[in-house]
Amino acid sequence: MQYSSRKNPCPVCGRNKDSDCRWNDEVMFCHVGTNFAPPSHLKVGETLVVNGIEWALVKTDAGHSGRAHVFKPHRPLEKSFNYSPHIYKETKAKKDELFRIAVGAFEDYLKVSKAALGCNFQQCTLEELREYKKLIERAVEEGKEIRQIMLDMQRNDKRYSDYIELIDQRNKEINNLKNEADNFCWAHLGEIE
Ligand SMILES: [Zn+2]
Repeated sequence: MQYSSRKNPCPVCGRNKDSDCRWNDEVMFCHVGTNFAPPSHLKVGETLVVNGIEWALVKTDAGHSGRAHVFKPHRPLEKSFNYSPHIYKETKAKKDELFRIAVGAFEDYLKVSKAALGCNFQQCTLEELREYKKLIERAVEEGKEIRQIMLDMQRNDKRYSDYIELIDQRNKEINNLKNEADNFCWAHLGEIE
């Protein structure tokens, strides 16, 4: 077991003033103190990446002091009789591959939606306005699609959560823009196309 110290800070909270946190490869006890503490938003069952490894919070108010968060290496929910390191490696590689693809699609969506948000439809020709409306529609559609994909994936892979949050934010902006553009068209031009 390693203990937190000045030379060996706790990998979770960075505690280095005393030895209240301890850990090894199987378990980590991170002390909830005033100056150092594990992330407070974390709930039991949620995970944290420490030095590239995913750890799950399995217990709070535990350890000698009754004031430690207990982390164990995160094990994906797979039926044990199915389990083999080989399969695990494969699924993990697949997951990572899907994740890369999804993040690529997400980045495309960011570009399209950013271009749409840059539209200044109040000062453009009718032709440009048609293009803008198409771009906005495309951003709306892509936003819906990528969100649904990420929601599905998130069930097995928590890495998607942050992206979904970003997508929701962006979708909101795009929907507002779409309403504005629609209202503008109605008010000034009547329905176009
Ligand atoms: Zn700690």
